Amino acid sequence: MSDHSLDPKDWDRYRAEAHDLLDHCIDLMRRADERPWQHVPDDIQDRYAIGPDGSRQADLMARIKNDVLPYHAGNTHPKYWGWVQGTGLATDVTAGMVAAVMNSNCGGRNHGANYMERAVIDWTCRKMGLPETAFGVFVTGTSQATLQAFAAARVKVMGPGVRAVGQGEARLTAYAAAGVHNATKKALEVLGVGSANLRLVPLIDGQMDLQKLRNMIEVDRADGATPFLIVGTAGSVDLGLFDDFHGLADIARETGLWLHIDGAFGAWTRIAEGAYRDLSDGIERADSIALDFHKWMYVGYDCGLCLVRDGAELRAAFTARPVYLDGKERGVASGEPWFCDYGVDLSRGNRAIKVWMALETLGEVAFSKAITRNCDLAKMMAAEVEARPEMGLARVPVSNVCVFTANASLPAEEQSALNVRIAVDLQESGEAVFSTTVVDGTEMLRAAIVNHRTTEAHIREAIAAVARLASD
Ligand SMILES: *Cc1c(COP(=O)(O)O)cnc(C)c1O
Repeated sequence: MSDHSLDPKDWDRYRAEAHDLLDHCIDLMRRADERPWQHVPDDIQDRYAIGPDGSRQADLMARIKNDVLPYHAGNTHPKYWGWVQGTGLATDVTAGMVAAVMNSNCGGRNHGANYMERAVIDWTCRKMGLPETAFGVFVTGTSQATLQAFAAARVKVMGPGVRAVGQGEARLTAYAAAGVHNATKKALEVLGVGSANLRLVPLIDGQMDLQKLRNMIEVDRADGATPFLIVGTAGSVDLGLFDDFHGLADIARETGLWLHIDGAFGAWTRIAEGAYRDLSDGIERADSIALDFHKWMYVGYDCGLCLVRDGAELRAAFTARPVYLDGKERGVASGEPWFCDYGVDLSRGNRAIKVWMALETLGEVAFSKAITRNCDLAKMMAAEVEARPEMGLARVPVSNVCVFTANASLPAEEQSALNVRIAVDLQESGEAVFSTTVVDGTEMLRAAIVNHRTTEAHIREAIAAVARLASD
């Protein structure tokens, strides 16, 4: 090995330190329940400041243990239900190690990681019920997947020329339920469609009003616009609600629009048991699906997937091979497809290995059970809330999200202030992490349970803590 390489000078020492750190990390994972979020110290920026030379490295392992690892975001803790944050899996540690040693660039060329990504995409397509033509690409998360799926929808409606000249005078319009995740708005902005051309369709009984949707499409057409996209939601960000995908797919077919489904977390009800699975009925009729593994498949950040029913349509939006990326018959540059033809990114790491190792280790059934259990726990939380006369549910949970107020008898403003104070106090004491959301003008406590470590006792303790703070 060259003396100039950046490899360790002393491999034995590196090995010993790495083993020690691995043991420490596994201990931390094993004791996730003892480690809620905590404040970062006031001087943390100084502790991380990079010095003028490498001499600070001497105590690097100790600094990682003392200054880095303690200040995690808290989402590994069993009583963390804020926002929609995945908890991570033990297999992430080993998957990360394997991925780092291989250091694969999954943009293209012929090597194992690309075949592994294809295997995980293939499995996901089967679970979502998509046909064999379906294909996709791993991305950071649902936001990026949404952008790429919309780009494919636009190329379909405007033809490949839109890639070169933009959409010009055309006024494209898109339709989604009021309450659709902000990722849809952002994607339309980035594409130049413009978020003012997103029509928010009112809900009836928690789902997009299909008659209103039909009317809005007609009105826009009559007005000279080009309706191109319906965005259904599997698991709304506020209340965990699901649109009627068969109804949306029928309208998409009648009107010639593209049906995209934001399934960031809710798409995974496809592998849940019983009635929870039925929530995502019809998702198999989507033209595209955006989903995350880092939320409700529990794998570490980041890990999302853009799926398109006809993979050729995703390719049509992104394929571009300058001469230096030309594929060859043999050698490193052989092998098809190349993922760079299916999205924005050229260089990409091996995200799929986290999913692959999790499935190979735990089996699909373990995930079905964990997802089902999270929905049951949301129901149980709702029952704990209903058992306390002063509290009130925003809505009976349909999936894994429970939204409630700590005191339903107060005026809306006081309720909101109380709920926010309780959320923050519980976060700071390390007792539980709820986030808040506004329902009908009142800010409420919200638990989105995508946590495989949560038990019934955790739910009971957390609701008791809310009750205690509400009565203080
Ligand atoms: C989290 C979420 C998103 C955004 O996904 P990211 O992975 O954070 O980019 C979009 N839609 C819904 C419903 C979500 O819950």
